[in-house]
Amino acid sequence: MKRLLLSILLVLAVGTCTAKGFVVRKSQVKSEAYRELAAEIDRSGLLQQMAAELNQVIVLDDTLGLRFSECGEPNAFYDPKRREVAVCYELIESYYENMAAAYDTEDELDDAVAGAFLFVFFHEVGHALVDVLDVPVTGREEDAVDQLSVWVLVDGEEGDKAVLDAAVGFYAAAEAEDAVDEGSFADEHSLDQQRFYNMICWVYGSDPDAYGNLVEDGHLPAERAKRCAAEYARIDRSWSRLLAAHLKP
Ligand SMILES: [Zn+2]
Repeated sequence: MKRLLLSILLVLAVGTCTAKGFVVRKSQVKSEAYRELAAEIDRSGLLQQMAAELNQVIVLDDTLGLRFSECGEPNAFYDPKRREVAVCYELIESYYENMAAAYDTEDELDDAVAGAFLFVFFHEVGHALVDVLDVPVTGREEDAVDQLSVWVLVDGEEGDKAVLDAAVGFYAAAEAEDAVDEGSFADEHSLDQQRFYNMICWVYGSDPDAYGNLVEDGHLPAERAKRCAAEYARIDRSWSRLLAAHLKP
């Protein structure tokens, strides 16, 4: 019995070491304030679902960790040393605070926060793929992985809404933050307002007939809108080609 147990443990240990692809790592919570949110997210199986879906599509020779973490700031990261994407509980909390005014009901706000999470999650997964798959990038990587995230999410249905909600999140964050200063111009990210317009441009560009209201309602200026179909088509061609060798047949 003891030997059997030992061999099972050994198989499990070897299995863990040789696992390839996306894996969920244990959430890290230090303070009491995030315990409830952490438990709720753990119960939802959200990261397990994301890992399973990514593993159905992408072939990796390495292990990429996914985790929620208490970070001390509202952010999300890809850590190349640990080969790990971490989304901070503080970021989810900040979405709830910044986006509350833009939605009428709790359910709408929950959906919008989920959309904002999905966008930032695939943005960070984009950084991870650029690293482990050695994907070539010219220009700002931050913009390139924003494009990847939109490209992954846009589906003519709920994914489009996730991107539009995430765009609202950027606009709300810009309004909640201090004024744009020299540091903002030096930052590796585009300004939040620019990310807002890029994201709604690309959703519009993915189906201009369906999203004409974004222009008619004044959210997307007509001058930019006329470029968006071509911009989205290029994003689609580029990321399809860059990831082609790594997608499951
Ligand atoms: Zn980034």
